[in-house]
Amino acid sequence: MTYTQLKRVDLIFDQDINPKEILKKAYSLSNEDIVKEVLESGLKGRGGAGFPTGLKWKFTAEQPASERFVVCNADEGEPGTFKDREILFQVPQKVFGGMAICAKVIDAKLGFVYLRGEYRFLLPELKTQLDIFQKTLKELSIDFKIEIVMGSGAYICGEESALFESMEGKRGEPRNKPPYPTISGFRNKPTVINNVETLVYAFMIMKHGAKQFKDLGTSDSRGSKVFSISGDTPKAGIYELELGMTVDHFVEEFGDGDTKSVQVGGASGFCVPRKKFKETIIGFEGVPTGGSMMLFNSSRSMYNVLKNYLEFFQEESCGQCTPCRVGCQQLLLGIEAVKHGEKPISYLDQLLKLTQTMKITAKCGLGQSVANSFSSIVENFKEEMIY
Ligand code: SF4
Repeated sequence: MTYTQLKRVDLIFDQDINPKEILKKAYSLSNEDIVKEVLESGLKGRGGAGFPTGLKWKFTAEQPASERFVVCNADEGEPGTFKDREILFQVPQKVFGGMAICAKVIDAKLGFVYLRGEYRFLLPELKTQLDIFQKTLKELSIDFKIEIVMGSGAYICGEESALFESMEGKRGEPRNKPPYPTISGFRNKPTVINNVETLVYAFMIMKHGAKQFKDLGTSDSRGSKVFSISGDTPKAGIYELELGMTVDHFVEEFGDGDTKSVQVGGASGFCVPRKKFKETIIGFEGVPTGGSMMLFNSSRSMYNVLKNYLEFFQEESCGQCTPCRVGCQQLLLGIEAVKHGEKPISYLDQLLKLTQTMKITAKCGLGQSVANSFSSIVENFKEEMIY
């Protein structure tokens, strides 16, 4: 097993940059060279899915189309995740810069930041920063414009195709896939949609070159990542760390000495119990995360934690497909029935089967990923599920 030691990194929040110089450098390169550099770095999407960023840009650029778009997904709604908020607040010029570099590669004239409804308080400053950025583009004679679109508080709009529907003024519901956004995204045109953090890393790779990034992390999980750390920890906050550390090393640094589990990747991620801390890597080869890390100590009821997640999913399911709409409700009712002694503990096995059905039949990531937290909590903390 290859893993890294816990190491703090300062790429994302590094303020010592000159956006104009980095853009000038990027725009002096060929599109092929930019894609090559991003691919070489090993950068994968930081929203959680982990698709190679360079490939996404390349595929979108290759589509024959009259228009292409860049969208920055700033609809950060995963429980326990709050790092994009800080990135947008501290280094917005780098976010816009990443979008402008992507725009060059795919020949987009228009880009959008889709901002989470609950982050409306960021809007005035973001607009001011965007004006400054547009002036920089003008000075460089770059023909690219960014607009900010507000979300309205629906978790599902963080799913890329639901986000496009919302941007088009429709109800935010996921589309069937394929086609993927690289072929048919916003207004059914080829679209790159990247997470806030991914765009900043792309920008920093243009500044430093691929090697610095590639030298961090493991072969499957290159680079670093910004983590939102919360729960039973004396060090709650936002930290940029090298990818590929074990949960054990993470807990050593951020735990309170009594950590019994870590929820990696928010409600749609995995619960790692103490007995698996040493063997579990935080990264694409182990447990991937969009950035959420929630620590729980022995004072916490894992039943309550799971119930909280299921209430969240039940509330946020868009209701479009039956496995998710009905499945989330049944899972919640099911664990309550077991807890209250109305169903035997063996009923949990039926609920586990239901999550597997949801995994293969739900239309989008919301319904498909309920199985992650459900099975990892139920299987590891079965004794806490009963009365
Ligand atoms: Fe909507 Fe859930 Fe189906 Fe996704 S899985 S389309 S959120 S009902």
